[in-house]
Amino acid sequence: MTTVFIDERKTKYLDRPYGRVSRKKLKSKLLEGCISGGVRFHEAKVWEIQHEEFESSITCDDGTQLKANLIVDASGFSSPFIEYDKPRNHGYQIAHGILAEVDSHPYDLDKMVLMDWRDSHLGNEPYLRESSSRFPTFMYAMPFSSNLIFLEETSLVSRPMLSYSEVKRRMVARLRHLGIRVTRVLEEEKCLIPMGGPLLKIPQSLMAVGGTSGIVHPSTGYMVARTLGLAPALAAVIAECLGSARMIRGRPLHQRVWAGLWPVERRCTREFYAFGMETLLKLDLNGTRRFFDAFFNLNPYYWHGFLSSRLSLGELAMLSVSLFGHASNLSRLDILTKCPVPLVKMVGSLALETI
Ligand SMILES: Cc1cc2nc3c(=O)[nH]c(=O)nc-3n(C[C@H](O)[C@H](O)[C@H](O)COP(=O)(O)OP(=O)(O)OC[C@H]3O[C@@H](n4cnc5c(N)ncnc54)[C@H](O)[C@@H]3O)c2cc1C
Repeated sequence: MTTVFIDERKTKYLDRPYGRVSRKKLKSKLLEGCISGGVRFHEAKVWEIQHEEFESSITCDDGTQLKANLIVDASGFSSPFIEYDKPRNHGYQIAHGILAEVDSHPYDLDKMVLMDWRDSHLGNEPYLRESSSRFPTFMYAMPFSSNLIFLEETSLVSRPMLSYSEVKRRMVARLRHLGIRVTRVLEEEKCLIPMGGPLLKIPQSLMAVGGTSGIVHPSTGYMVARTLGLAPALAAVIAECLGSARMIRGRPLHQRVWAGLWPVERRCTREFYAFGMETLLKLDLNGTRRFFDAFFNLNPYYWHGFLSSRLSLGELAMLSVSLFGHASNLSRLDILTKCPVPLVKMVGSLALETI
């Protein structure tokens, strides 16, 4: 069960389980898969990548040169090797999180807190309230026991990016107000995820996977589960092209593999999710609360599908109509007054994708 605190008076309970991924175990599992598949490793930093018509080569910082028919870049959001043909204007998710031992906390032990939008903790902190009303943050909390909890103050999306120190100050104020006294910080994490913005150049000679491939959900920042879900199909396209029977190389290869990751329908749905992000960027704290109040009133098929990037373009259109139907009058006013520009941009991008 998952909880969303819309404000001091309204709480939603969602029938949606959450889990915490062990980075170590996930990495071990992926490495074991590579080893059993005969992957050979070379540990070094990639310095330069050069492309010729049918072959690419990598120069590493240890001087090693490696050649391949296809290079797949999995080096994360700030890869210098991936090309863009449109100006990049990402939004950013920024968060400060701690896995901490605490004296006590007020959250239910059997529920994950997806979003706590309450802001009564700012009653005594007027210097934080003004910026929090315009650029809201929420608490994401996963209690493991009455004394062990993961807490993360999160700015869902901002542009320009909300400062990290501001996020930390808000978290301190919130914990003080909730009476949570941290006795030991076991893990601390700084989260910075670029989201949305135009998709990279498709196709290009370098293939991408993960954070560098544009696959991060533009409205939530989620990416890991989606990449794991898409990886087998992408690997199958690469294997089919490079397999001895087909011998597809060069531009036809790049076109096939990029179409495997970003078919037209998926590019169109990404435009829609990016529209969701642009809408969130325009909402203040009260607008955001009204938005999520309506969003989590939708048929769970729609909000589950939206959060996990599973909806088709037609279903996303249905979601929008239904969201408008569920929205309060003030929320409808937000949508009508704040969304036209992002909406026009989305329609323009959809037209470009489908021409
Ligand atoms: C605190 C935090 C919480 C998050 N929570 C979630 C969540 O709940 N759900 C979710 O889906 N996502 C979450 N994310 C986002 C998720 O972690 C990222 O989207 C994901 O890690 C990106 O994976 P990646 O493999 O593409 O890149 P990375 O994890 O950044 O890995 C890239 C790797 O490439 C290496 N590398 C970089 N440059 C080079 C080079 N030149 N040569 C060789 N190697 C290089 C790096 O050292 C690194 O090992 C979170 C992120 C953070 C920081």
